[in-house]
Amino acid sequence: MAVPKRKTSPSRRGMRRSHDALKVEAHHECSNCGELKRPHNLCGHCGHYNGREVIAVGL
Ligand SMILES: [Zn+2]
Repeated sequence: MAVPKRKTSPSRRGMRRSHDALKVEAHHECSNCGELKRPHNLCGHCGHYNGREVIAVGL
C-alpha cells in the first residue's frame, strides 16, 4: 500500500483546503413581494415567477 512519506504540515493542509469554502448562495429580490429568492426559481414566499402566480402558497 502506498503511504505518504511525510506528514502533511498544517500549512499544506490549509493550502489544500483554501478552495473548500462554501460560496454565498446567489439570491435576488422577488419582484412581487420583495423577499429574497434564488434567480430563475419561483419565489418560495409568494409562489410567483416572471410576474404571475405559479403555485398557490397557503398563508
Ligand atoms: Zn415573492
